[in-house]
Amino acid sequence: MGNSRWIKFRVEPGSRVRLDDMRPDDTGNEKKQAAVQHTGKLQKRMDEMQFHLYAEHKRSVLICLQAPDAGGKDGVIRHVIGSMNPQGCRVVSFKQPSAEELDHDFLWRIEHQTPTRGEIVIFNRSQYEDVLVVRVHNLVPKHVWSKRYREINDFERRLSDNGTHILKFFLHISKEEQLRRFKRRLNDRTRQWKVSEADYQERQYWADYQQAYEDALSKCSTDYAPWFVIPSDHKWFRNLVITEIIVHTLERLGIQTPAPQVSLAEMRRKYHQLKNGK
Ligand code: AMP
Ligand code: MG
Repeated sequence: MGNSRWIKFRVEPGSRVRLDDMRPDDTGNEKKQAAVQHTGKLQKRMDEMQFHLYAEHKRSVLICLQAPDAGGKDGVIRHVIGSMNPQGCRVVSFKQPSAEELDHDFLWRIEHQTPTRGEIVIFNRSQYEDVLVVRVHNLVPKHVWSKRYREINDFERRLSDNGTHILKFFLHISKEEQLRRFKRRLNDRTRQWKVSEADYQERQYWADYQQAYEDALSKCSTDYAPWFVIPSDHKWFRNLVITEIIVHTLERLGIQTPAPQVSLAEMRRKYHQLKNGK
């Protein structure tokens, strides 16, 4: 991550995460208005860098988003990632696995959606659901899910070795902020479609989820696929930090736009011939 000012939100590989010690309402002493403006500038830069990545057609980027319900995954996709060119950018949402998906190992459906060269792919939920919801609700026995941290690390290393840069963002919100967002959804006609009974039920398992997140963040933050815990009670700060980390990562890739596939001197000669009506 070099010297990004947001390196402090990266989970050091091998360290033990305690979410209670990390403030979801942190705003890093930023002022909202200036931060929103700066995010806008960074979005333009991100769009340019994505265009270069696409043109280079060598490496790819995978961004995994995980969060509690109402944590802001949709907002990140709309505000942060929405500024990129849809050609070369793809969002994949992972829901409850289908019967066919359940008949394969848990990484099968994930593998299918990994980015191709030049592409940026955003996972809205990810391989981590299989050590989160699956663990909290005992959907498979412990001896099965407990091996998955290593399996995920191995999988991510393989992707990384093959040119995929992985960034993983956990949107950290407080339990109080979740309730405020539930209320906003109930009262705002344009958001009422988001009200979900499942979200209310899952809130009962808040502590179990926090523990499961802490394990995933602690066991699976690596140099090749780091986790970032993003303070997300304030959406504008969340957007600033995520955009800056993505831009910083893209800039460090040293992307080269490809050399022309033709002789430009020859093409210039032909162009002048056309222009002169020959
Ligand atoms: P939403 O993102 O609100 O549309 O909800 C998708 C639902 O699918 C969430 O409740 C997830 O926890 C659930 N889900 C995603 N992946 C898995 C998985 N591997 N196993 C079980 N449930 C999952
Ligand atoms: Mg939901």
